[in-house]
Amino acid sequence: MIKIIHGDITTLAVDAIVNAANQVMLGGGGVDGAIHRAAGRELYEACLKVPEVRPGVRCPTGEARITPGFKLPAKFVIHTVGPVYRDGNHGEPEKLAACYRNSLALAAENGCKSIAFPCISTGIYGYPIEDAAKIAVREVKEFLAAKNAKDAERDVACPHAPNGRAGAPRTPQIDVIFCCFSERDADVYRRILDLV
Ligand code: ADP
Repeated sequence: MIKIIHGDITTLAVDAIVNAANQVMLGGGGVDGAIHRAAGRELYEACLKVPEVRPGVRCPTGEARITPGFKLPAKFVIHTVGPVYRDGNHGEPEKLAACYRNSLALAAENGCKSIAFPCISTGIYGYPIEDAAKIAVREVKEFLAAKNAKDAERDVACPHAPNGRAGAPRTPQIDVIFCCFSERDADVYRRILDLV
């Protein structure tokens, strides 16, 4: 299920909230700062322990890392680094799509049944909201459709297994929330959700 809300992502009692982090992963402005303030010092300590892939980079652009949520109502924080927008012709769409895909994959691997995304890259990083929302909605829809197809395939492949299912348990469906910080952004998402 996909839901669009207008609100503060730090207040959501979901399995995972996604942080629009930067590569060093030690906090910053915007939603990143809000998440670190609400989660407390332990989040900073946990981020410090994420190994650097090269000096000053714990999470390259487009990738994702997971930590506990500490003082947040959310169980996990999935940190992903969106692209800084230049003109849309420097790999920004692919990198932004990868943020959504990798965050969803990490949520699924960790058994999350609900995940909330902010509008990644559309603040300080300058990604136009309409373009970013189209990518976000497309990637989430594709992920959920692929997951449903995989689950259905598994059921068909093994119709006589206990519960009518194959050995591996069916992974839970994931509720995805787009948490917009303004009503204007939420309106953009509502419109795009029907189009994409
Ligand atoms: P980026 O650097 O990826 O652009 P920003 O944090 O500057 O990240 O902005 C990303 C989006 O997060 C923007 O739409 C901004 O309005 C929104 N945002 C800021 N604070 C919060 C919050 N507490 N909850 C949800 N969204 C937020």
